[in-house]
Amino acid sequence: MRQAGEQGTLFVISAPSGAGKTSLVAEMLKQDTRLGVSISHTTRPMREGERDGVNYHFVSRDDFEGMIARGDFLEHADVFGNYYGTSQIWVRETLAKGRDVILEIDWQGAEQVRRLIPECVSIFIVPPSAEVLRERLTGRGTDAPDVVERRLAEASEECAHALEFDYLVVNDEFAVALADLLAIVRCHRLRMPVQQARHEGLLARLSGGL
Ligand code: GDP
Ligand code: ADP
Ligand code: 5GP
Repeated sequence: MRQAGEQGTLFVISAPSGAGKTSLVAEMLKQDTRLGVSISHTTRPMREGERDGVNYHFVSRDDFEGMIARGDFLEHADVFGNYYGTSQIWVRETLAKGRDVILEIDWQGAEQVRRLIPECVSIFIVPPSAEVLRERLTGRGTDAPDVVERRLAEASEECAHALEFDYLVVNDEFAVALADLLAIVRCHRLRMPVQQARHEGLLARLSGGL
């Protein structure tokens, strides 16, 4: 039988739009090669600079609804009037290979994932202030002014769910927030069930008499 420790850990990261989660996760992946990120499906229009299959799998509403009907999603939600969803098969297969997986999803998706995979580790990221959030969303320059306003209006709803998460990271100074996130991942890898599976031989040799 497989031991629980052989499975990768699922990290669920949520934040109000513009808090910095995409930039932080991209840097985490560069610094930690044992991490993988799930590429969501979405019906929102592609932003300049984004690529299909890299940032998201961009699909039509019809295709997305077909995927819901087939049970292809681990979770899905309507965020700012667009559908977003996480591929069930990719996440399950990647975890089964023992790799750690990050989901960058909204609070509604996090709630669904917590119910389905209770051992997941959830992290909420906040900006240091509402003013900074506005500056980052505007400064990113990827969304029209009405879209920015809508995202800001929804930020307080997202933040109202912060206490449902296991960890809180404040993204004021980027390097500090990044170190906090990497520390959370590292800490979870040192838990006994994970270490026991990884170092089974060593533990057996050491406890068999020196
Ligand atoms: P950004 O967060 O400002 O970069 O904006 P995005 O358009 O990339 O994401 C919009 C929202 O959709 C965010 O709250 C994400 O967390 C959420 N989101 C992205 N992918 C998924 C997903 O697969 N499932 C769910 N439930 N939410 C997602
Ligand atoms: P999200 O994915 O949460 O919507 P992004 O990663 O797109 O957020 O970040 C929003 C904007 O803020 C980007 O332009 C990014 O470069 C910038 N940003 C992220 N973190 C910081 C930080 N700690 N300090 C200053 N700017 C930041
Ligand atoms: P954006 O459109 O700016 O890329 O993302 C907006 C929001 O959608 C973000 O808060 C992001 O976390 C969320 N989101 C992205 N992908 C998914 C997903 O697969 N599922 C859910 N529930 N939310 C997602």
